[in-house]
Amino acid sequence: MFWGSAFKPFIVPRFQRDQLMKTQLKTKRIWNFSAGPATMPPKVLAQLGDDLINVDSTGIGILEHSHRMPTFDRVLGDAIDSCRQLGEIPNDYEIIFVPGGATVQFSLIALNLIPDGATADYPDTEIWSAKAIIEARDAVPTATIAVPFEGKKFHYDHVPVAGEMIPTPGAAYMHYCSNNTVHGTRFHLPPTAAPGTPLVCDASSEIFGRPMDWKKHALVYAAGQKNFGVAGMCVIIAHKDVIRKPVRKLPSMFSYAAHLDAGSRINTPPTFAIHAAGLMFRWMIEQGGIREMEKRNNAKAALIYKEIDGSGGFYRGLSRLECRSAINVSFRLKNEDLDQKFAQEATDAELDGLIGHRDAGGIRASMYNAMPIEASKALAQFMRDFMRRNG
Ligand SMILES: *Cc1c(COP(=O)(O)O)cnc(C)c1O
Repeated sequence: MFWGSAFKPFIVPRFQRDQLMKTQLKTKRIWNFSAGPATMPPKVLAQLGDDLINVDSTGIGILEHSHRMPTFDRVLGDAIDSCRQLGEIPNDYEIIFVPGGATVQFSLIALNLIPDGATADYPDTEIWSAKAIIEARDAVPTATIAVPFEGKKFHYDHVPVAGEMIPTPGAAYMHYCSNNTVHGTRFHLPPTAAPGTPLVCDASSEIFGRPMDWKKHALVYAAGQKNFGVAGMCVIIAHKDVIRKPVRKLPSMFSYAAHLDAGSRINTPPTFAIHAAGLMFRWMIEQGGIREMEKRNNAKAALIYKEIDGSGGFYRGLSRLECRSAINVSFRLKNEDLDQKFAQEATDAELDGLIGHRDAGGIRASMYNAMPIEASKALAQFMRDFMRRNG
């Protein structure tokens, strides 16, 4: 009947409508600009959901598989292979997954790489590199942790430019943070260490977001929760000679060489995090790989910088122009009240996670590899509207 069918959608009983809304709320997603843990692609999340119940048609979920059995052999093998492929990592570099976040590596790197009495260079470009300095000093009190650049003097608004940093000759390595997550600065090119001194890089906030010059690096590390999945695990990518020759005898869980020898399985590894990483690497490869990630990240950041630069000072970036991050865009409004108002209204407009780090204040938009450009477009539009209402 004509009337009956035309009006049918409008006479859904109330309890059914409530049910429908509940289901929609449960599956609805908003734009999440959180600095980490950070947004992940819905496709990967859906696969992880399926794999919780039953992975590889084994009838057993990923959380429940033994880490010594063939299914997990497959998961771990795929994660390492796809990591190498995605990162374009040369064969003389080893890849291991280790438990604990990036903060754990601040100590382990020093323990594995600085001999007693030696010096390592640690330019200080932000709280993460500053924390790395403190932890390295505590880990190897017999070594010297030199700080050839003190960014704090400049409110961390830039990374060292040529001539601004004098590296220590003969340093065991230079540790640096390639992308500074809080203030939103980055090294466009790796820093210049003393001749013969290799680089060690904390790439936690930008790994696989742009190609890496592996040959200059002894070791690169990153935590998972920003660009490749789950918190509590790191990937370590290190030259085989560096990782195979720890400078001192260490307990096995502290030794990168021991992790390598055991194939990232000294004990029960973070199996779920490794599986998530494997799916994330595969997803990034499918999307077009690291160069595509770089292109997208540049485009996403450019949309926000355009609003900052075109705002006549309403929005003020925290980073000097020449070292702006393509991942974390940090800026400030006229005062803290307006920062708060911006973050609150953005959340109401379904743009979440924009309040800046407590050390820097202001607003921070973190747009890691999994963040689609639509989110940046929505934020740019919101910035324009907010300025119209409050400028
Ligand atoms: C997030 C972050 C860290 C800290 O990682 P945890 O896993 O929380 O220890 C370290 N360095 C950088 C550059 C980061 O962005």
